[in-house]
Amino acid sequence: MSSYEVLSRRYRSLKFNNIAGLLSELITQAEQQELSYFQFAELLVDKELSAREINRRKLYLKRAKFPCLKSLEEFDFRQQTTISKKQINRLLDFNWIDNRENLVFFGPSGIGKSHLAIGIGLKAVNAGYKVLFMNFQDLIEYLDLGLAQNALKERIKLLVKNDLLILDELGYLPLNKKSVYNIFQLVNSFYETRSIIVTANKDFTQWGEFFIDETSATAIVDRLIHHCHIFAMGGESYRLKQQMERQSRFAGELKGLSENSPN
Ligand code: ADP
Ligand code: MG
Repeated sequence: MSSYEVLSRRYRSLKFNNIAGLLSELITQAEQQELSYFQFAELLVDKELSAREINRRKLYLKRAKFPCLKSLEEFDFRQQTTISKKQINRLLDFNWIDNRENLVFFGPSGIGKSHLAIGIGLKAVNAGYKVLFMNFQDLIEYLDLGLAQNALKERIKLLVKNDLLILDELGYLPLNKKSVYNIFQLVNSFYETRSIIVTANKDFTQWGEFFIDETSATAIVDRLIHHCHIFAMGGESYRLKQQMERQSRFAGELKGLSENSPN
């Protein structure tokens, strides 16, 4: 075994796995660039820390379970005039996560609620927060099954390990009593301890419809909105707009074809 390999193993035994794998390369770099002892010591620790940070991001990104990767950079604020870039950028210091506050995005289908929630979630992952994305219906099933298996508390405990839970598409179908109870338990556990982003088609006044009754809905909504930034979004569906544009382009192309046709 070469002396490099022996040294590498010793680094690995101290869990400096990243520099262990780059040892000969880093030593060559130090020799070529005639680094001082201090600069070399700094180079080693910089390499280890930056590689660990990249690995952490990869891991948190995988664990966040985003359904797709939609970035805030891709979000066209000219198309969504009920919300400003400034408002969203202000959230990127993540003071609201540190202060255990929530975000709620309301509005009709297709206007970019999920896109914004994912974009903010991605930035939060990069900033070092543990994030989990869940479709609301999947959360209901996850908690209902937990209750049936006498494991509701454990499941909620697992969810509370995240700094931020993104609940997408709150309510379409009315829930049964047990599911409402489970949601209340979850929201109660997150209240003032963790943050939630909710995207919803309907505003709070209509939440009684799927949380069965006004009392349960009020108990849940109260905890959600006590410390909360609410974004009421409006406008046309982006999906619909794109589809209409595609269709009119297609119609224009057809017209062009028929006008240019020899017959
Ligand atoms: P919602 O959750 O409000 O129903 P989505 O976020 O799923 O809507 O948006 C529907 C589609 O339109 C997605 O592909 C999304 O990326 C895109 N989209 C919506 N609004 C915008 C926007 N302002 N800029 C860029 N893409 C957008
Ligand atoms: Mg959506």
